[in-house]
Amino acid sequence: MRAVDMIMKKRDGGQLTREEIAFLISGYVDGSVPEYQVSAWLMSVFFRGMTPRETADLTELMLRSGDVMDLSGIPGPFVDKHSTGGVGDKVSLVLAPIAAACGVKVPMMSGRALGHTGGTLDKLESIPGYRTDLSPREFRDFICADGFAMTGQTARVVPADKKLYALRDVTATVESVPLITASILSKKAAEGAESLVFDIKCGSGAFMKTFPEARRLAESLVNTGKALGKRIVGVITDMTEPLGRKVGNFLEVEESLDCLAGKGPADLMEITYRLAAWMLVAAGRAKDIDAGLRLCEAAVADGRAMALFRRNVRTQGGDLARMDELYGKHLSPHSFELRAGATGFVNSIDAFKIGLAGVYLGVGRNTTSDPVYPDVGFVFERKTGDPVSSGDLVAKVYGKDAGSLAAALPLVEEALTIGPTAPAPRVHILEELTAL
Ligand code: URA
Repeated sequence: MRAVDMIMKKRDGGQLTREEIAFLISGYVDGSVPEYQVSAWLMSVFFRGMTPRETADLTELMLRSGDVMDLSGIPGPFVDKHSTGGVGDKVSLVLAPIAAACGVKVPMMSGRALGHTGGTLDKLESIPGYRTDLSPREFRDFICADGFAMTGQTARVVPADKKLYALRDVTATVESVPLITASILSKKAAEGAESLVFDIKCGSGAFMKTFPEARRLAESLVNTGKALGKRIVGVITDMTEPLGRKVGNFLEVEESLDCLAGKGPADLMEITYRLAAWMLVAAGRAKDIDAGLRLCEAAVADGRAMALFRRNVRTQGGDLARMDELYGKHLSPHSFELRAGATGFVNSIDAFKIGLAGVYLGVGRNTTSDPVYPDVGFVFERKTGDPVSSGDLVAKVYGKDAGSLAAALPLVEEALTIGPTAPAPRVHILEELTAL
């Protein structure tokens, strides 16, 4: 086989066989196919796409390039949720203990903040002592003990994706639905979950800015997941403004605690309950979405989800007493107040601009080696649709230093628009696709 023939075939709109894809992927991982040929192949896929069969083959071959979590011996069912990434998206922190409290096991491997989107691992690590570098043994044991565990991906999980994603990043080939599908799904399948729920974010703060783009990704994830033998649900949710009222690292831990105490903001709770309920349906623990919602709401109302979250913090090395002490106080001394410049209604708070401003503040990072800070971010006093009078406080903004605040300020001001009339109420759940 020759890589050039596969590049040519894809360039001319042909379909690659499983053997041809395997040749490219294993050759790239072991170094026998050079980066320049893989780059050319990625660009041909970017323009020509892949059939569902090719996408499923690519996903499975990438999955097989590394370790797959062995959860045998632990009673399931195993189900996880994956979000395509957004701003203020702390759903995982709330949903995992809710789902676990309802009797499913959640093997959650999460990522870090990059660009304007936040990362679950960075949020969890803002709890003093909390460890996200679990060994496979610890991951198994903690799932067994608490019903869920949260860890990062080791270098041995889908090494093909690590190399390919880095190459896509520098060859302008990230935004390809089959390549995104294979990247996300191979990593999720490596966790060992039998069922998966995808939260496909849609809007300015998301990877997929428009509904048709989000729908294409949702269909591809659901169909490819099904081809791999998984039970899959894809939920397309709004990401035009930040989710909830707090954006940051420890600030998002605080808001997660509010949610688990039954005092979470409406948009965040609606999305969290919906995704958690679909996890129960996908895992066969609820007969339909309404039954799932009732179970999830009960797990919050009677404190079981909160108890599990706190237990997990202790299990993963977090200092519970310190976490409680810091609540409401873990805030950088460098701050400014965003105030309304007019009277009317908040018409929008642009999630992308808030996410970008967050990178300056120290919430997120531009490159994987940049540090992030626990005590920075945004606390929104007003959200889209709320009435405001000129001079009202809209948000308190915390940055790592004075310079970071100065850099973030123009973006934060641009993110807020106030109009004379209230905008149409926002719909948070845009569409649901199931393959159960
Ligand atoms: N997230 C991933 O993990 N992979 C992609 O290709 C895009 C987003």
